[in-house]
Amino acid sequence: MYDIIVIGGGPAGLSAAVQARSRNRSVLIISGQERDVPLSQAGRVNNYLGMPGLSGRELIARFSTHAAQLGAERMEGRALSAMATSGRFLVAVGSEVAEGRALILATGVAHGPKYPGESEFLGRGVSYCATCDGMLYRGKPVVVVGASAQAPEEANFLQELGCQVTYVSRTRPEALQPSIDFVSAVRLEIVGDQQAAALRADGREIPCACVFLLRPSMAPADLMPGLALSGPYLQVDRDMATNLPGVFAAGDCTGLPLQISKAVGEGLIAGHRACDYLGNPPPPASNIC
Ligand SMILES: Cc1cc2nc3c(=O)[nH]c(=O)nc-3n(C[C@H](O)[C@H](O)[C@H](O)COP(=O)(O)OP(=O)(O)OC[C@H]3O[C@@H](n4cnc5c(N)ncnc54)[C@H](O)[C@@H]3O)c2cc1C
Repeated sequence: MYDIIVIGGGPAGLSAAVQARSRNRSVLIISGQERDVPLSQAGRVNNYLGMPGLSGRELIARFSTHAAQLGAERMEGRALSAMATSGRFLVAVGSEVAEGRALILATGVAHGPKYPGESEFLGRGVSYCATCDGMLYRGKPVVVVGASAQAPEEANFLQELGCQVTYVSRTRPEALQPSIDFVSAVRLEIVGDQQAAALRADGREIPCACVFLLRPSMAPADLMPGLALSGPYLQVDRDMATNLPGVFAAGDCTGLPLQISKAVGEGLIAGHRACDYLGNPPPPASNIC
């Protein structure tokens, strides 16, 4: 069990992790691959104090190294759900579960609206997790809608399980097994009756038993029901506390401006306040500054 689980390995999550480690709390950061952090697409960042001119990828690498050097642990993957139970939080990541005493949501902004049919068929032929649900569709046709860096690997995994996989995205990813069918499409809709029966991709229907929607992020409200929102963002107070005890939030997921400095500052506050929430800290370790 960790003291603090941070969901999201962007500037806000990494800042929160650094602060919590500085207070000698055990920290687990759950996030996808570094390529999934939107900032890694920025060619040059000129407005981050004291470090102008670095690329987004360089900045993220520095932030990640700092958190790792202080001892923050990392679990690669997408958190699918988080729930509070008996004073602790259980976070499902693929088929694994991480446990923590406080939770910091630093998930950035959820890009893009849901597809038509997504909510209607969730759990009935729509899944967000290949490793959790793949076995159910062995020997059957499935569609992977790949939006995350890890999605090609998950599609390859489904094929190894024995699913007949069609991969849908804008362009064919290099890491996809050559034997997997590929369809380039952008307008997607899940159709069916009681159960999802096909993905409509730019008007063409691809029959399937399941559509796996593999995005890099999830809207926090989908991750953890009961969170209060303010418009599309999480509602927080000045301590970065959400309406749920022990759950803090920082960065783009709490609202404008969507900027690195704001994310890092909010991450600091969330990290400190999550430590305060846990009560008396353990004795300081000598190698932590
Ligand atoms: C191309 C581009 C250029 C930019 N340029 C600038 C700039 O010059 N200056 C500036 O100040 N800002 C810039 N920004 C904005 C800046 O990147 C964001 O404001 C900042 O990264 C927000 O940090 P964050 O940690 O809140 O969220 P993010 O950086 O979005 O990080 C959130 C992370 O959480 C992960 N995640 C989400 N849900 C889950 C889940 N369920 N499980 C596991 N992981 C999850 C996401 O995949 C992501 O990696 C730019 C953004 C882009 C896209």
